[in-house]
Amino acid sequence: MSAQAAQRLGLTVLVLDGDLDCPAGQVTPKQIIQDWDSVLGTQALASQVSVVTLENEWVTPENLRLAMDAGADVIPGPSTMAIVGDKFKQRLAFSASGLPVPRFTSLSNWDDLIKQSTEWGGKLVLKSRCGGYDGYGVKIVEAPIGDVQLPSAQASDWYAEEFIPFDRELAVMVSRNKDGKTSVYPVVESRQTVDGHRCDVVIAPAPGLSVEQEELAQRISLGAVDAIGGIGLFGVELFLNGDRIIINEIAPRPHNSGHYTMDGCRTSQFEQHIRSVRNLPPGATTLLTPVVVMVNLLAPFDGLIDLESATRRAYECCPNIHLHWYGKTKMREGRKMGHINLLGQDLDETLSHALAARLAFWGE
Ligand code: ADP
Repeated sequence: MSAQAAQRLGLTVLVLDGDLDCPAGQVTPKQIIQDWDSVLGTQALASQVSVVTLENEWVTPENLRLAMDAGADVIPGPSTMAIVGDKFKQRLAFSASGLPVPRFTSLSNWDDLIKQSTEWGGKLVLKSRCGGYDGYGVKIVEAPIGDVQLPSAQASDWYAEEFIPFDRELAVMVSRNKDGKTSVYPVVESRQTVDGHRCDVVIAPAPGLSVEQEELAQRISLGAVDAIGGIGLFGVELFLNGDRIIINEIAPRPHNSGHYTMDGCRTSQFEQHIRSVRNLPPGATTLLTPVVVMVNLLAPFDGLIDLESATRRAYECCPNIHLHWYGKTKMREGRKMGHINLLGQDLDETLSHALAARLAFWGE
């Protein structure tokens, strides 16, 4: 979707991905068929383009430095990515900037976890420092620790943080270009699936927030991007806990909690991403209607669906939806395959129509 936004601005996009049929490859005529994390692929890419950007946070800082050495501008840059790619380093950077984060600690061995659990009242969150996503790499640990199945990796690959009994999860998209011009999107509420691991529904704006809470969440999110020297587009995930707003994590790219902007805001997050990458001024982030709802199309099963019939059912159920299907080649249970956006005037009505369209899509 970033590639499509770039093409709309007249840019030629070269994709690095080992899968010819990957979603970005399907919409761009030029692709280097090598793994996105390969050294040779990165060098080949950087030697042919003026700017490199990315769609996941696992691209290593080393590869990004190689791309810079090959002459490309790299956004977000390697030093930002060295922080973002390690959740423990994110915590260090945010707390050094005075931003609100859960209490956290590194672990040199698993005994440290027992000590920490006693100190923090028995319940804590164990997080993999690198490579986690959609809740893989997050374990909520409750005493007695002896009963908990610990990861097979070394304790030092994980860190522990305080469990936040949050009321709601919020998110804010922020962009910053090289000239330091920033934009901040409305604060949204992100509702997770029952297992708590995947984003299910996003509501913009987050219902029931006071103006002070909204401004605080936006200030913290801008501060988070500043704290990591970020240039590009970032998704900041937050916890609302009573009156407190606490940072969960930051993603250095267009984010699922920002997909509502594609139809619901003056400027979509993908265009904003490309604008910041090209050092253009950011566009307005205002919502086009009082309410915008995004519901994820998380695959209910492995296998195939009849996409044409599913799409027809969803539009017949609710003609005003905007359906986005990503073109991923494999459908696995729980995988994000696409999403539905719906603009409206009233939250309950908009949400129930969007959910009904999703049920119709899956034929339920
Ligand atoms: P991922 O990068 O895999 O999405 P997160 O760090 O965002 O992992 O955690 C996944 C989910 O786990 C969060 O959306 C939240 O529901 C829960 N969670 C994470 N950290 C905490 C915490 N400190 N306290 C309570 N719940 C948490």
